[in-house]
Amino acid sequence: MPMRTISHLVNPQFTALVLCVLWFALVRVYYQFKPIIPRRAQLAFRRRLANRQRRVYSQLWPIFEPAARAPAGWTGWLHGLTFALVLTHDVESPKGVEQVRQLAELEMSLGFRSSFNFIPEGAYRVPEDLRRWLTENGFEVGVHDHRHDGKLYRSWRRFRASADRINHFLREWNAVGFRSGFMMRNLTWMHELDIAYDSSTFDTDPFEPQPEGAGTIFPFWVSRKQSGKGFVEMPYTLAQDSTLFLVLQEESNGIWKKKLKWIAAHGGMAMVNVHPDYIAFGDKSCRWDEYSASRYGEFLQWVKQEFAGRYWHALPRDIAAYYRQAIQANSTAGPGETSPGRGTGRGTGSKESQA
Ligand SMILES: [Zn+2]
Repeated sequence: MPMRTISHLVNPQFTALVLCVLWFALVRVYYQFKPIIPRRAQLAFRRRLANRQRRVYSQLWPIFEPAARAPAGWTGWLHGLTFALVLTHDVESPKGVEQVRQLAELEMSLGFRSSFNFIPEGAYRVPEDLRRWLTENGFEVGVHDHRHDGKLYRSWRRFRASADRINHFLREWNAVGFRSGFMMRNLTWMHELDIAYDSSTFDTDPFEPQPEGAGTIFPFWVSRKQSGKGFVEMPYTLAQDSTLFLVLQEESNGIWKKKLKWIAAHGGMAMVNVHPDYIAFGDKSCRWDEYSASRYGEFLQWVKQEFAGRYWHALPRDIAAYYRQAIQANSTAGPGETSPGRGTGRGTGSKESQA
């Protein structure tokens, strides 16, 4: 039978479903074998895939225009400032832990503070004195996944057991924020976590294994049905450093600047995730899996000069508290009524799942 005739017989929705199932099967197999795949090979695979995706999703990334729509009842940022700036870090490895202070000191030297998310039971021990040093200097500490093995949401039983451990560390670290490893997520299951906010979503980032975006550059409320409880979801809106500099091999921070200008023009929240693990500090040359600290430092300097007096720079927990209060104060129905914009799921316009 000619191919054209076959394609007429296949329902496009069925094709999309099959592709979706195949993608999730591929992701599952990848994370099963990831520990034994050399990191260079992992990066080479991601580079090939991402370069293809970049062409296909040029209308969705780095800017997804519909994401600029403000949520219902939104009256703006603290003190009428134009936009919010939030700096976050996921610490992936022992090397990342070693470099936390250097990164924090770089930010402090420029007048910034940020949140560091640590893996509670992964490949490193989280030093108590480092956590204390961070909080004493005005930084926030959050929880990053549980074991960071890509399997957190594989089954309800597994997740439920991890949730108990995550809640234990949230209490011990006096933390209120969470982000999953590899930005995998199930916002409904996350109600089991004792969090004020989660930051495992993004406005648009088709390079992630769970590529559907929240489709908004504003925080949004994820309510637990019939309980009045919930948490604030804070999508990151600037590309992750690893995606930009290691996977896509960008040679400048121009995409961060372009996106920040767009977010500022629409009064949204600029949130970035920078990993201390991949930064080369000082004059030493970059390894194959590093980029120069100057790219991040120069970006922060540029923000200070370009947008002086126009942005609210705050820790994610402060933004989450403000958002919850502001939406509650301006909505007769409470925060449960708010919702993200249209999602970016492979161009289908579908929404990020909500509880
Ligand atoms: Zn991570």
